[in-house]
Amino acid sequence: MKLNGSMTVDEKVLHIGDVSCIELSEKYSTPLYVIDEKLVRQNCRDYINNFKVKERKNRVAYAGKAFLPLYMCKLIKEEGLYLDVVSGGELYTAHKSGFDMEKIIFHGNNKTLDEIQMGIDLGVGIFVVDNFYELDLIEKICEEKLAVQNIYFRITPGIEAHTHEYIKTGQIDSKFGFTLVNGDLYKAIESMSNYKNINLIGLHAHIGSQIFDVQPFLDEVDIMMNLVKEIKERYDIEIKEVDLGGGIGVYYTQGDQPKTIKEFCETIVKRADEICDEINIEVPTLIIEPGRSIIANAGSTLYEVGSIKTIKDVRTYVSVNGGMTDNIRPSLYQAGYECAIVNKIGEEKLSQVTVAGKCCESGDILISDTDIMDIKSGDILITSSTGAYGYSMASNYNKIPKPAVVSVMDGKSKIVCKRQNYKDLLALEIMDK
Ligand code: PLP
Repeated sequence: MKLNGSMTVDEKVLHIGDVSCIELSEKYSTPLYVIDEKLVRQNCRDYINNFKVKERKNRVAYAGKAFLPLYMCKLIKEEGLYLDVVSGGELYTAHKSGFDMEKIIFHGNNKTLDEIQMGIDLGVGIFVVDNFYELDLIEKICEEKLAVQNIYFRITPGIEAHTHEYIKTGQIDSKFGFTLVNGDLYKAIESMSNYKNINLIGLHAHIGSQIFDVQPFLDEVDIMMNLVKEIKERYDIEIKEVDLGGGIGVYYTQGDQPKTIKEFCETIVKRADEICDEINIEVPTLIIEPGRSIIANAGSTLYEVGSIKTIKDVRTYVSVNGGMTDNIRPSLYQAGYECAIVNKIGEEKLSQVTVAGKCCESGDILISDTDIMDIKSGDILITSSTGAYGYSMASNYNKIPKPAVVSVMDGKSKIVCKRQNYKDLLALEIMDK
């Protein structure tokens, strides 16, 4: 297992932020999410320093969908990032954490009336408008409240990027945004003169997730900058801000070769300079929305090993006391992870096992066919890089309570999300007497 961030090994025992994983499992029980706070902060700083936030007033907006407890809002705020939210719930969390609402970018392809009202009442900085229906809703609410709302248009730029490849298609099949090729974006821009309470100040696109290749992002930059020029020439509208979305890939397993945050940011900013120079426009303010690349490698999950079942000549199943309820990604899209036994780091890997969860689903497999050191029931197994889309996608399937989240740094640990208990599971349920 690759050691991320502040992971170290002392006499075969894995430590994160100078805290022993054995101690963490004893103190807080398992399953347990562990967040390496130093690495979260370092990732934020790498973005801020390399995306020219100070020199150019560019912005880095953390994509809250990756992981958004109050604690994370606080870290993001302290590090000077903006925040991208996609629902009333995420917006509420940000608000309760004391996050500056001016620094909120509100996404979503079907924001409800209530959510839009809430955003306008709270004074959200930017709505990323996804469709004509939303434009009408925002205008109506702004009229009632005598408010004016700044917006970006979300566009579907004709680039679809996957992990190792990308395609440029003429026709994009996506539920998100105004399509470029069928003319919807132009219709939306033309309609702006009908909206007295809405200010179009930017464009937004998001081309995919877990992308290693920088080329699709460079193509995105080119398309967006050309659009800025075209919109100025055709409609005399100044697009001052361009939001390039998130999607930067991270290391999960061997073979993943992500760019560093620095390399990635420098390449994007440089390309924006070049293309704007070529087409003779001023470089707009750039916004980027990383989620996974800030939190994925900073999170790990500790489990206790339970049953071990060997089917001769077939496979050995090692079952742990969590699974698809705390990490749906392997079942949902065959995401890969690495694992280790926390007090046997460096020992020879003696066998190959499949790590299974405890849910009543054959598909509840966390890692298939992984080499592992000597493993016994009662061992503490860690899966690394579970910080993004783990806790935020966790469920109570099989009425399994959600694990606690602990933050570690400089030899200290603290609970940032309590473990659910059985009573919590019934908190919303009503039974007729
Ligand atoms: N921005 C938008 C609009 C997204 O839809 C997403 C992810 O789906 C992100 C940012 C964050 O992507 P990632 O976590 O891959 O960086």
